[in-house]
Amino acid sequence: MDLYEYQGKELFKRYGIPVSEGRLATSPEEARAAAEELGGQVVVKAQVLTGGRGKAGGVKLANDPRDAEQKAREILGLDINGHVVHKLWIERASDIAKEYYLSITFDRGEKKPLFMLTTQGGVEIEQVAEENPDALARLHVDALEGFQPYQGRRLIYGAGIESPEEQKQVLAIIGKLYRCFVEADAMLCEVNPLIVTPQGEVKALDSKFTVDDSALFRHADVAAWRDTSAADPLEAFAREKGVTYVKLDGEVGILGNGAGLSMSTVDVVVVAGGKPANFCDLGGGGSAEGVVDALEVITRDPQVRSIFFNIFGGITRCDEVARGILEALNRIEINVPIVVRLDGTNADEGRKILADAAPPNLYVEPTMLDAAKRAVELAA
Ligand code: GDP
Ligand code: MN
Repeated sequence: MDLYEYQGKELFKRYGIPVSEGRLATSPEEARAAAEELGGQVVVKAQVLTGGRGKAGGVKLANDPRDAEQKAREILGLDINGHVVHKLWIERASDIAKEYYLSITFDRGEKKPLFMLTTQGGVEIEQVAEENPDALARLHVDALEGFQPYQGRRLIYGAGIESPEEQKQVLAIIGKLYRCFVEADAMLCEVNPLIVTPQGEVKALDSKFTVDDSALFRHADVAAWRDTSAADPLEAFAREKGVTYVKLDGEVGILGNGAGLSMSTVDVVVVAGGKPANFCDLGGGGSAEGVVDALEVITRDPQVRSIFFNIFGGITRCDEVARGILEALNRIEINVPIVVRLDGTNADEGRKILADAAPPNLYVEPTMLDAAKRAVELAA
């Protein structure tokens, strides 16, 4: 789960990482009131789950409350890389002398958390890594040993931070960020920029924070931050049902078991001359309940004109899936044709169950390509 900047900063604050004081606003009037409360110059920041807001005009300085209201009006409703701005974070403006970069993420190759620190902050880290790799200090932490203070020192010397005052503050922030990363079950904590003010104060000016979905049960407060209004309502419904669902813009609804097969199914539909309406993964189960849930999700998408149900039985048994399909047809009204391809464990049995019941609007095809062609034809 990706957190908004203001949510990430809330977690930073809990761990003692310095951030600027701020307020959330959803209208120009609220932005003005927030600026009044904060006093002085503020920065008005679009809250969207994508980077590069600054470049896209989503981060603006405002000199007074009236100006904040005006800037809020300009930013609200802005489309930043496909994300429409509904929320603003208004924070006390900082003077910036230097922009650094600090992050922790997982290095899956090494199976360890990886710190990155550079004094070349404020730009995309990929750019620094490419153009100036020596400026980027990288350091792995052994999860069992935990973070050791000498590692922090190695990072700051590696990055070339020379002022003792800055070193002290950055060291403290590194330690706190590691604790925050571990205790929040984060996958990514990125501070870009980590600034140094002209007075020599170091603080986090931005936050990019991702929490492991699988650990959300341990963080009820963070889970409650999920903004269902930002997500597609159908995707929210799918999540509620525990179905993996991705909306696409064609007309053939796709249901497969397992991510690999579902993605291949998307490809085959394109090969057959059609366009997938979505990508829906039943997962490894394929129980009747799972099939009903998935069909319920798919049929709620008004763009779906036909459904391609592609199952390869491994652990999943095709007879069970066939029963699930019949059960789903009993329980929910489905007005679009369904094309089924069953292969693998108990496929013959599954096909027989469907043939015996012979529900209207259900087509069983022997191969993936035949089924794709049929589904595309029926969607036309
Ligand atoms: P991003 O573009 O989505 O990464 O958003 P950031 O929060 O990183 O802001 C982008 C840029 O806006 C920063 O790199 C700063 O240069 C600038 N900025 C953000 N907040 C302030 C502030 O309080 N004062 C000043 N002077 N500039 C700011
Ligand atoms: Mn940033």
